[in-house]
Amino acid sequence: MMKEYDQDCIFCKIAKSEIPSKIVYQNEFVTAFEDLSPVTPIHILIIPNGHYHDLNDCGENEASLLGHILLAAAKIAKDQGISDSGYRVVVNDGPDAGQTVFHLHFHLLGGRPMNFRSQ
Ligand code: AMP
Ligand code: ZN
Repeated sequence: MMKEYDQDCIFCKIAKSEIPSKIVYQNEFVTAFEDLSPVTPIHILIIPNGHYHDLNDCGENEASLLGHILLAAAKIAKDQGISDSGYRVVVNDGPDAGQTVFHLHFHLLGGRPMNFRSQ
């Protein structure tokens, strides 16, 4: 069972289309939209359609949901034309990773070469 939305959460509002965003993909499990401050030519956020704080907020019940998020990332990468050039999927979880929005989200990054070690 998917968690409920949190009425004060900005990403929940995006999933419900209560505030504007550029949604590129949506299904019963996930919503994907363009990041407001892209760090790569393609920078899309993929979120569950329910309020999960972060990965620590997920358990066995979310195993399938988390799989759907990664499958959506691969599908969107294909739609965006970066399947062959390559892409990165990133979760910033907690303070050391610099998480700023506390609704679980996966960054889909691509469209230019990236240097993993410099991050
Ligand atoms: P993180 O630092 O991993 O928590 O990432 C949060 C991301 O959300 C950042 O890359 C922001 O640019 C992005 N962001 C914040 N608010 C919005 C918004 N209203 N629409 C789209 N992206 C957003
Ligand atoms: Zn939320």
